[in-house]
Amino acid sequence: MSAIYHNTKLVHNFNSGPSVLPREVFEEASRAIMDFNNTGLSILEIGHRSSLFQEVMDEAIATLKELMVLDSEHEVLFLHGGASTQFFQVPMNLLDDKETAAYLDCGTWGTKAIKEAKIFGQVEVVASSKDKDYTYIPKGFIIPETVKYFHYTTNNTIEGTQMRDIPDSGVPLVADMSSDILSHTMDFNRFSLIYAGAQKNIGAAGVNVVVVKKDILGKVSRRLPSMMDYRNHIENGSMLNTPPVFAVYVCMLTLRWLKKLGGIPEIEEKNNVKAKLLYDTLDSLPIFRPKVSGNDRSRMNVVFVIDEPELEKEFLSLCKENGMVGIKGHRSTGGFRASLYNALPQESVTALTELMKDFAQKHG
Ligand SMILES: *Cc1c(COP(=O)(O)O)cnc(C)c1O
Repeated sequence: MSAIYHNTKLVHNFNSGPSVLPREVFEEASRAIMDFNNTGLSILEIGHRSSLFQEVMDEAIATLKELMVLDSEHEVLFLHGGASTQFFQVPMNLLDDKETAAYLDCGTWGTKAIKEAKIFGQVEVVASSKDKDYTYIPKGFIIPETVKYFHYTTNNTIEGTQMRDIPDSGVPLVADMSSDILSHTMDFNRFSLIYAGAQKNIGAAGVNVVVVKKDILGKVSRRLPSMMDYRNHIENGSMLNTPPVFAVYVCMLTLRWLKKLGGIPEIEEKNNVKAKLLYDTLDSLPIFRPKVSGNDRSRMNVVFVIDEPELEKEFLSLCKENGMVGIKGHRSTGGFRASLYNALPQESVTALTELMKDFAQKHG
């Protein structure tokens, strides 16, 4: 992997999403806009029912199944509407009015998922880390065996916490994996439903991935609009209507890139090295204060502050001068956030840590 040059300018892209993608994906996708696979047609003008696009969709689905090592009970869907649509599509399909689902309240995105679920049924929040601004993952919570499903966010993109271990529970597990899917190995087959907006680790904005186990569907009594019923999308191979053709294509290319690289185990190693370097640097320089400690630290989104506002401003402009993009924290939390998604090269993290060391020395 190498750093990405746009118009010969060196850029280190720490954006939280949409975010950095592999350079070869940009190159291939650019070529396909002018001429897709030597057909003389642009990827933007081929019919989604053509065999040309069917092959793209087939490869995207097959590669994702292979990378995630999914069994035959799990279906892969590419749907519209981003992860935010899944906040309501999930309870709409799985939860009847009088039934209860358990949710973990671990950050901004989980809170939004809870709000939407309450429209369709009863929600029991089993634990929350709101008391400390979502800077940790609650431990030892109990998931009642009577609930319809348990929902949690595997990686809290804004607050910088991550749950890598899958909770022990007999109830169907549902997870929002938008910001850490495909970044480390896990037994994805233990989930009944997984969803993720593509724009962080899978590809371009405009599509989200849903992995669903067929046996949990068709059990609610409410009538579902056709576009909201997962079963219709399974039956129609994610082409119930016109899919976001280009976004699916970029996902296919990114998945192909990950497979060629050695899949999830290989990228996990690279991700661990990147995250360790950044956290070790933060821990060694007292001027910076990481917001999350220990095992709860996200390896995808590293959140930290400098306690003096003047110095924060100075460090931010220093980053800007050195081609670091997207390092400013979320508008709700302030400070800094460096997102280290799969496609971010090691050298970008090295460049950032070198800058931090220089800065600390100057102000030490
Ligand atoms: C980005 C993000 C979302 C929102 O995704 P959209 O595609 O913009 O709806 C939801 N959950 C998590 C964990 C995210 O990181």
